[in-house]
Amino acid sequence: MKRDALAATPVRRSTTKDEGFSMAQANLPLHIASKYALEYSRFVAKNPKMAEPKVHCPCCGSSFKEWRPVFGRGRKAECHICHSFERHRHIWITLANDPDFFAKGTSLLHFAPEPFFKTVFGENPAIDYYDCDLAKERATHQVDITAIPFENGKFDRIICSHVLEHVPDDQKGMRELRRVLKPGGIAYIMVPSEVREGTYEDPAINTPELRLKHYGQETHVRIYSRNDFVERLGVAGFQVQTQFPKVRWGEEMYRDFTLGDNIYICR
Ligand SMILES: [Zn+2]
Repeated sequence: MKRDALAATPVRRSTTKDEGFSMAQANLPLHIASKYALEYSRFVAKNPKMAEPKVHCPCCGSSFKEWRPVFGRGRKAECHICHSFERHRHIWITLANDPDFFAKGTSLLHFAPEPFFKTVFGENPAIDYYDCDLAKERATHQVDITAIPFENGKFDRIICSHVLEHVPDDQKGMRELRRVLKPGGIAYIMVPSEVREGTYEDPAINTPELRLKHYGQETHVRIYSRNDFVERLGVAGFQVQTQFPKVRWGEEMYRDFTLGDNIYICR
């Protein structure tokens, strides 16, 4: 097939996942969906061997033969177009299935906003969006999660992914998230965690070198045990449901969307 013809031919998607795609795609503002569609056809024109519908990105609607190696190396899990990883695809498809998330007037607090989500939520007129980060260059609002400068019960939804493992007083952070969540609201929380006997944390592990050696990352301050993480969220006042991607979405979507990380759904 000639390049031009290939570029003009949308990659076929398998029927079983079409529903997942349309749910997710319906929530992309039109100009963003068009931008991704254009980038995808350019990508396929340049990389015709990638034009096989083996893996699918629900965030931007693209399909490929395989993912890109994460950060250009390591495991193959990154979307070539929107740069989503496993956890981004898991949270996106979960939000696309939350009937109230994209409803008009939803107030959303988003910690450590990923660029894809920041654009998609920030440019959605239905969402009253507050993107926050401790580093002021990364978000509109410079916010310390242990002292959130918003009133009680302000937010319908909170997204806090891969933040609490960096926070020394994580339980104060959890109480603050609980405080600003509206009654009936939902906080979607993700952290790296392991099935292990208790959370591994030690105040003596207090330099970037030691943290890298003990926790695997220079800015992490612990390795959570899954059970302990749920318990801490409970102590902060949340009712927690752990969503395992394979259980929630089934073997096929788990594999073909390549989903990852549990989501702790907190009410
Ligand atoms: Zn993508």
